[in-house]
Amino acid sequence: MLTLQKKICLLGDFAVGKTSLVRRFIYNRFDDKYISTIGVKVSRKTVAIPRANDIVNLTIMLWDLAGSEEFSHMRASYLRGAAGAVLVCDMTRAETLENLQVYIDDLVQLTPNAHFVLAANKNDLLAQHQVSPHEIEQFAKKYNISYRLTSAKTGEEVDTLFRYMGNMLVK
Ligand code: GDP
Ligand code: MG
Repeated sequence: MLTLQKKICLLGDFAVGKTSLVRRFIYNRFDDKYISTIGVKVSRKTVAIPRANDIVNLTIMLWDLAGSEEFSHMRASYLRGAAGAVLVCDMTRAETLENLQVYIDDLVQLTPNAHFVLAANKNDLLAQHQVSPHEIEQFAKKYNISYRLTSAKTGEEVDTLFRYMGNMLVK
């Protein structure tokens, strides 16, 4: 059995649900209060991932940072050493999808070997959606990244999102 540890950064605009996705994945909890993340919070969880005839114990270190203004000042140090990034948009706010382009440009420049996955979050708030699953699919195709329609509130696709990332990191 092999043990690995990888750094994964959460990226996306304020209030898209980055902290909530981390909380759901790590503690299986959801909180309606909005607490803007101050600085960087690192959480970790170890998952067993099958590889060939073996099992890899992967410790996922999730790095979670506050809004984009802060990001612009510390993105280089935030992204340093990241093996992967979860790009998060909020399906109830179209601009949060467009704004991901900036984060993708940064990733390509600063961490060219990192793997990314897109989480189109708040999939439970159907009536308020400004972005359709089709538009998410088009965006993901354009950047050649995989995506999941997630809800940190219901837990939908949250585990599969992080496990998908984990699988890519142990390949
Ligand atoms: P962050 O700034 O990206 O870390 O966003 P947060 O995780 O703090 O979430 C911002 C707000 O959106 C909070 O009020 C959360 O409760 C709410 N939220 C996050 N994810 C979801 C979701 O999947 N569904 C719903 N309905 N609300 C969510
Ligand atoms: Mg946060």
